[in-house]
Amino acid sequence: MAYDDGNIFAKILRGEIPCKKVAEDEHTLAFEDINPLRAVHVLVIPKGAYVDWRDFAATASADEQAAFTRMIAHVADITGIAGSGYRVISNIGQDGGQEVPHLHMHVLGGEPAGPLVARG
Ligand code: AMP
Repeated sequence: MAYDDGNIFAKILRGEIPCKKVAEDEHTLAFEDINPLRAVHVLVIPKGAYVDWRDFAATASADEQAAFTRMIAHVADITGIAGSGYRVISNIGQDGGQEVPHLHMHVLGGEPAGPLVARG
């Protein structure tokens, strides 16, 4: 799938709409999900234009990939959920339920995550 730069996370990255920033580095932005599903619900996104995990794995630089990985752990640390545990989810494509076509990881914690996915 080609990257659509009209998606909502691209607009956040361009500063066209606001976000509640949690952390940022050269390659990565972390911000609060607008519709939190747990006490802590942060989205981690690369600043580059990547649709999904396959796109990111195939074309992002090693520095971007390392920064993305580190940011997930950093978010868990600074939001205080690293000790009690948390869940990282990425929805990919149609069957994955991806709504926003810019790669993102959901970092959820602060309370039990529950079953891995709902059955059926
Ligand atoms: P997904 O279904 O994995 O694509 O998840 C998209 C997520 O983006 C959902 O959890 C939404 O609540 C979240 N979201 C949509 N718009 C915004 C926004 N403007 N700021 C923060 N989170 C958003």
